[in-house]
Amino acid sequence: MPLEPPPLRNDCFALPAGVDWTPVDDALALLRDRMTTVVGVETVPLMQAAGRVLAHDLVAKRSNPPHPNTAVDGYGFAGAAIGDGPQVLPLVDGRAAAGAPFSGMVPEGHAIRVLTGADLPEGVDTVVLDEDVRVGDGHVAFRGPLKRGANTRKAGEDVRQGDVALSAGRVLTPADLALAAAVGHGAIAVRKRLRVAVLSTGDEIVEPGAQAAEGQIFDANRPMLLSLCAQFGFEVVDKGRAADDRSAVRSALDAAAARADVILTSGGASAGDEDHISALLRETGAIQEWRIALKPGRPLALGIWEGVPVFGLPGNPVAALVCTLIFARPAMGALSGAGWHIPQGFTVPAAFEKRKKPGRREYLRARIRDGRAEVFKSEGSGRISGLSWAEGLVELPDGAINVQAGDPVRYIPFSSFLI
Ligand code: AMP
Ligand code: MG
Repeated sequence: MPLEPPPLRNDCFALPAGVDWTPVDDALALLRDRMTTVVGVETVPLMQAAGRVLAHDLVAKRSNPPHPNTAVDGYGFAGAAIGDGPQVLPLVDGRAAAGAPFSGMVPEGHAIRVLTGADLPEGVDTVVLDEDVRVGDGHVAFRGPLKRGANTRKAGEDVRQGDVALSAGRVLTPADLALAAAVGHGAIAVRKRLRVAVLSTGDEIVEPGAQAAEGQIFDANRPMLLSLCAQFGFEVVDKGRAADDRSAVRSALDAAAARADVILTSGGASAGDEDHISALLRETGAIQEWRIALKPGRPLALGIWEGVPVFGLPGNPVAALVCTLIFARPAMGALSGAGWHIPQGFTVPAAFEKRKKPGRREYLRARIRDGRAEVFKSEGSGRISGLSWAEGLVELPDGAINVQAGDPVRYIPFSSFLI
């Protein structure tokens, strides 16, 4: 049995005592400190490794290129023998092609026909391009000088055998697969996929498309969070909906913990009467209500259920998405073995005006048009149409700010969150 990493400690979500509203950066630093890889390792065929997390540094088994070869079609010879001005060299019989090397030796002062990708025959270190020669009567003619090594590739000039070609924790891209293949790997040790369970809570929540009675709304968070986690490259486990009932939520969490490495819930995360997620996590003694100085987002309930970390997201879809992108996404990245990822933001001029009070960081639904960041017309955190309208978030700092049109603001496209 391969060794599995240990689970997180029960107190891993503890916050320092006496802190009321935790600034976003402090909350992120705490998470970054405490989230460690929780998934084991498996070996998969190279062809199936795209999007997976590399488990160990990938060491080149072979150099790329493995042997000096020619970068062009042309004629090869020993460069040392070539001076300035016209050159005429006798051709040896035969040729070197990719996959069909020339086995003999090319004497100094002689040349040989070579085709792109062919290993350089013994005695050849320089190639002249087809376009630069005349051939006839068993000879090749061209004009010197030619730099020694011209039009050739050196062995290992890209990657040398024994070098680390890719570092552990990397999420493998198509180009990474090309590199891994080139340096001799046909199978790759990757992290097992992080399994993420998604659960919605609330008496008012019904299945999308089902009959909705008065007072009921459709479950908008679950399809969003499930597809988001799938886009992150995780394996998703749909745990459906649970009513606002302590035992229903308890059994849903039990079932989720049995099948997943991390649980995302939405709704019921505050301290109200019907906020069963926080109440239950409190019972286990491992809950922390993270009151983060962030808008949109009410308290996040973070805890450990049967050894599995739970991110209790707010019920409002806008807050649920923002809290997932800002907190749950980097934390899940660390749990998955990919390490902590900081989304790349860009400073762009604002196409809006906004006066903001100090005390909490704000994320606005935004998109770029004509090089400027526009924000959605309403900040209401139930406005799902604004989420769908947006292509990213504008991040306004913790302190007070009075944004005028044209002022620089920080824009983080959704693609920077790896979706
Ligand atoms: P809660 O956090 O449970 O107090 O919910 C806050 C708001 O989000 C309420 O208006 C809920 O009806 C709404 N809400 C909670 N869960 C969902 C969901 N899965 N889909 C859509 N809205 C939700
Ligand atoms: Mg609720």
